[in-house]
Amino acid sequence: MKKISRKHFLSKSAAALAGGSLLATACGTDSDARASGGAAPNIQTNKTYRWKMVTTWPPNFPVLGEGCQKFAQWVEEMSGGRLKIQVFGGGTLVPPLEVFDAVQSGTAEMGNGAAYYWAGKIPAAPFFSTVPFGMNAQQMTAWLTSGGGMDLWEELYAPYNLIPMMSGNTGVQMGGWFNKEINSIDDLRGLKMRIPGLGGQVLTKAGGTAVQVAGGEIYTNLERGVIDATEWISPFHDYKLGFHQIAKYYYYPGWHEAGTALETLVNKAKMEQLPPDLQAILRTAAARQYVYTLSELETQNAIYLEKMQQEGVDIRPFPPEVLSRLKELTAEVLDELCSRDARAKRIYDAYRAYQQRAQKWAAISEKMFYEQFA
Ligand code: CA
Repeated sequence: MKKISRKHFLSKSAAALAGGSLLATACGTDSDARASGGAAPNIQTNKTYRWKMVTTWPPNFPVLGEGCQKFAQWVEEMSGGRLKIQVFGGGTLVPPLEVFDAVQSGTAEMGNGAAYYWAGKIPAAPFFSTVPFGMNAQQMTAWLTSGGGMDLWEELYAPYNLIPMMSGNTGVQMGGWFNKEINSIDDLRGLKMRIPGLGGQVLTKAGGTAVQVAGGEIYTNLERGVIDATEWISPFHDYKLGFHQIAKYYYYPGWHEAGTALETLVNKAKMEQLPPDLQAILRTAAARQYVYTLSELETQNAIYLEKMQQEGVDIRPFPPEVLSRLKELTAEVLDELCSRDARAKRIYDAYRAYQQRAQKWAAISEKMFYEQFA
């Protein structure tokens, strides 16, 4: 009995190593072609494809935008120049928050951003970027890659003629920049803060006001007092924007973004017009972009945290009672979301089940390891 299941496992593994689904697609196409007596219709090895990628990131945006440029370069190299992708920063071809629509309609063949930007259109979308007190980068990656998350994501985007791929992760973000101390939950009351997504809804429940401000305008808004506080990303990007010059306190952790997954969107019809090898190249380059983005941010955030510490930036943790109250309010926000959107409930049930199991493992692995730090 054991022997049979081991053999079955090995044959399954071999198929996976050989690129099982790609192989199946290619063979299917081939036999269909033979049956109809002609060559496979979509294999045109000499054809050059020119694609456009629109992004939510400002042009030349460090790491996240640069990752898209590298993606295009890798695709061109791997395809021997048969697939050329031109990358457009946010606002250069379409506005940053119209990336989803642009790829859905085929204005651009692909896009790059984060799923929580589409929450207004698809309330369940944030589960594929991040939710407050949600999974970290490692857990999110595992859920999407081998825990069933990707199937749910593909299913969610299918009605929009879109194929999602994971193309990066920011890791744990910072809590943000404040000009007053946050000693209790009441200090958030009346606070006007730039904080997107479900985190913004949690702040609203705490009595604050969540404001949406595009990346390029946050500094001026904070400097002029249009907003009282802001979150952005982590030490590297935050230092580059200069928030330490105009805000007194830099709080951690980013309770609202524990490991935000970034996404590549591909127009499904356009994808299906590509020969199978170019489709595989796109997926492989997205996976490489994922590793690049996560690693580059890990490296740069550590360097820039040290820089901020040396320059005397006041970096401090939220008090535990503030975090535990925010966690309670997060549960309310998620319950409300699930009660009004059936797709959100289905996805969150799967997300939460995975998270709870992963946390038990983390409690005796990662957590114990981190507690040994000096
Ligand atoms: Ca953020």
